[in-house]
Order: sequence, then structure tokens, then C-alpha cells
Amino acid sequence: MGEMIPFEKALEITLARAVREVSVETVTLSDAVGRILARDVRSDMDFPPFDKSAMDGYACRVADLGGPLDVLEVIAAGMIPTKEITQGRCSKIMTGAMLPPGADGVFKVEDSEMLPDGRVRCAGSEPPGNVARRGEDLEAGATVIPAGTLLGAKHVSVLAAVGCAGPVVACRPRVGIVATGDELVEPSCKPGPAQIRNSNSWQLAAQVERAGGAPRYYGIAPDRAEVIADLLRRALAENDIVLLSGGVSMGDFDLVPEIMTANGVEILFDRVAIKPGKPTTCGIAGDRVVFGMPGNPVSTFVIFEVFVRPFIQAWMGCRSGCNDPVLPLEAALVRRKADRMEWMPVRISEKGGLVPVRYNGSAHFLAIGRADGLIPVPKGVLRLEQGSRLPVRRI
Ligand code: AMP
Ligand code: MG
Repeated sequence: MGEMIPFEKALEITLARAVREVSVETVTLSDAVGRILARDVRSDMDFPPFDKSAMDGYACRVADLGGPLDVLEVIAAGMIPTKEITQGRCSKIMTGAMLPPGADGVFKVEDSEMLPDGRVRCAGSEPPGNVARRGEDLEAGATVIPAGTLLGAKHVSVLAAVGCAGPVVACRPRVGIVATGDELVEPSCKPGPAQIRNSNSWQLAAQVERAGGAPRYYGIAPDRAEVIADLLRRALAENDIVLLSGGVSMGDFDLVPEIMTANGVEILFDRVAIKPGKPTTCGIAGDRVVFGMPGNPVSTFVIFEVFVRPFIQAWMGCRSGCNDPVLPLEAALVRRKADRMEWMPVRISEKGGLVPVRYNGSAHFLAIGRADGLIPVPKGVLRLEQGSRLPVRRI
């Protein structure tokens, strides 16, 4: 077994393995959300692309306002105006339609007064403007979304508007998931005496999806070397990343680290000074990365959030990372031991503060279900005072 290393060192070793030439693919707009953009997206046109009306109303010369105006034509959105606006004239215009030549303002239809002779007058007191000038929002060629951005719903209209119907995004890493443990049955089964349900595989698959990876589940391996080795080899052959849960601690049946080594996985670290998750084991086999995670559900969950999620995001070239906001503690947080740095579950209150949740340690998965985030409590710190500001990893 190697030496115990600090969390920051372990994270640095892990992230160094994510540095690579990102492989890319083109997706449709309906598949873009949740993907990492691999190339800058630039606009192929000015925005707005032409001087346009921002209102339904009358396009006129501002200098002519107040007097009666002849209406030359009705300009619908999508139509090219045919008449120039000269003194004493206007054209009816719809929102988004091209401003006719000669016009320098639009007064709203609500402010218009129809005169008995068929002419129209602006009766409103608001100065007319209501014109959006070509290029005032954006000029052609400008970058609208930089590479490395995690695409959200808010980006879809930008992509569509600039003609990027097939954004180039990073391929999703394939992530194989293997559960180990003689005591495990799947969630649909009623556990027998001394058995428990396998929650880790399903939790990990969901976390992989959320991080942008493509999970694939290989089932439960009992604590038998040949079965674990067989699933590990299959998962290594078919994935970029392999996650194993259970079997990395000091127990008689914790076989995972030696099986990793026996199957060509070079161990980078196998003990980290964090809580939960001290026996976290990380290794490489060629360009594949393997994480052996302790089986307690909170340990598995936390180790994923603090190591594997940043790794998957870096692997895809994501520039925004986990983006942890720094928020104040609304109540003091106390723990019993301070020998390691500890990731602890907290709620985020309506006021935007951090509230500790009741937490009994790494088997207490209900605490995670009630939490909104995890905060890192440094080594040597038993008590964090109310008002202390901490980064929170949202979960
Ligand atoms: P281990 O890391 O194998 O020593 O397991 C530590 C604890 O986590 C034990 O109480 C296991 O029963 C539990 N555990 C291991 N694997 C899972 C799993 N897949 N789902 C839920 N609990 C698990
Ligand atoms: Mg076990």
C-alpha cells in the first residue's frame, strides 16, 4: 500500500490524467444540452441583421411627428419595404419587419390616431424610437459561445440564431460501473438476512450522466477474485473510465486493489487524507483510468463528486469546472475528529446561506438525500463558526 496523500495532491494527480486531445462529434440542436462545446461558435451575420422595428406601429421621419401622415404600405416581418418614407408619409410596420428607407423612428400602434381622411397621426407623448439598428447587439464574426462551455438550454437559441445547427462537442467518456460485494442484491429484490441492496451502481450511473459521461453497468461481482477480475477486464476493454465500488478497504475480502494490479492497472494512489473515502484507489491502464471507491454509499457519492466529476469534465475540455459558489454558514458546524479534511453535507437556505444537515457518517446516505451541497472542512478544524464562508460543491 502506498503512502496517504493530501486531497489536493490526489486531485492534481487525477486531473493530470485528463489532459488529452479531446475527441469530438457533431450533434443536433436537440442533443446539444449538457454537452461541452469543442469549437468556438461565431456569428455568421450581424444582429439584428437589418435595421428593424421593435414594435407594431408606423415607421416615419421623427421630424414629421405631430402632423397627419399618409400611409404608403403595410410592411410585414419578412418583407422588403418597397416605398421610401419622405416628408409627411409613413408606412405601417410590424414587429421584426425591416425599416423602410427614409424612416428614422417608429411610433406604436397604441399611440396612433386614425383621421377621417384615412391619414394617421401620432397622438402619444412618448418620443418614438423603437428601432433596433443593424449590428447593435453583435457584429458578424464575433464569438458568441467559447469552446469549453457546458451547453445549457439558454445557449440553444444562440446556436440556432447564428446558424450553428450542428455544434461540435466533446465526445462523452464511456464509463463502466462495477459493484463488488457478497452482500449485495439489486434494488428490485428483497434482501435476505445479512444482505443489502446495491445502491451505489445506480447512484454512480446517475452521477455519470449528470457529469456528462455515458454510463454502462456491468453488474454485481461477489467478493471473488476471478469474477471481479473478469468484470474489470471487460469494463476496461469497453470504456474510457472504470468505476468500482467496494472492496478497497482493509477487510479480508477487500480484493480490488490487488486485482487492479494483477490486471495491468498501475496504481497512482491508494490512500487519500479525506473523509469519507480514505481508501480511494486510482490507477491507469494505458489511457484508461480506474477508480476503486469505498463501498459506503456516502463515500462513493462524495468521491465521485470531488474526484470523478472534475475528472470527467476536464476529460471533455470543460472550462467552467464545478463552479462552486462561496456562501456563509448560517449556523456553526461541529465535528468530532479533525484528523483529515472532511467533505460534509449542507443545505442551501432560501437566504442563500449554508445549513449543516444531521450527518452520522459515511453510511448515512439519507443525509446526502437531504443536502444541496458538500463543503470541505479543513484538517485540524473541529468547529466552523457561523458566518464562515466556504465553497460549496452543489449536488
Ligand atoms: P466495502 O467498501 O466493500 O468494505 O463496503 C463498505 C460498506 O458499504 C459495507 O457496509 C457494504 O455493505 C456497503 N456497500 C458496498 N457496496 C455497496 C453498494 N454497491 N451499495 C450499497 N452499499 C454498499
Ligand atoms: Mg465489500
